[in-house]
Amino acid sequence: MARYTGPVCRLCRREKTKLYLKGPKCDSAKCPITIGRFPPGEHGRDRQRQPSEYSIQLREKQKVRRTYGVMGRQFAKTYGEAARQRGITGERLLQLLELRLDNVVYRAGWGSSRAQARQLVRHGHILVDGRRVDIPSYRLRPTQEISLKESSRSLAVIEFNRDIVARSAPAWLEMAPAGFSARVLNIPLREQIDLDVREQLVVELFSK
Ligand code: SF4
Repeated sequence: MARYTGPVCRLCRREKTKLYLKGPKCDSAKCPITIGRFPPGEHGRDRQRQPSEYSIQLREKQKVRRTYGVMGRQFAKTYGEAARQRGITGERLLQLLELRLDNVVYRAGWGSSRAQARQLVRHGHILVDGRRVDIPSYRLRPTQEISLKESSRSLAVIEFNRDIVARSAPAWLEMAPAGFSARVLNIPLREQIDLDVREQLVVELFSK
């Protein structure tokens, strides 16, 4: 399964915004966006041209895609699915991405970044309704429950993320008191998805 393996802060610098790809560093003073680093490339510092409509739409698409760590073809497939479903296409797209298993593991606070959450899934630490699922793109449905495998609960990385990173779960995800399982309550509403993107621009790009 393909995934981006290059330097991730470069992606944020390219989008000129925080995409939160690196866990605790993203909230620290070391974050290149906080420091004010320029976009990457020889001309990153002085790229002054007025962006075209296409480039604004493209950047918005890349922001969404890179935030969720999805490659181009899979993103286009997810978009196609969103476009065929009822409702507002941009919103449906975000909902489909938000319900990916790796993202839900991230939202539950077990992974410090989506990439780390993805690795937890790939390595078989996550159960869905009591059965091991190691497919990061697995899409959860309301009422389904994810949990950490019993033997994985004491992993140093999990303890660190729960105690130090301590991210609180969104309203659509109900955490069990012990924090080792979580249930999807509903399909996330747009206002429950804390993503600063204009998804309508992604729709406009794909509609060309
Ligand atoms: Fe992006 Fe996080 Fe790197 Fe900052 S530290 S540039 S938010 S990945």
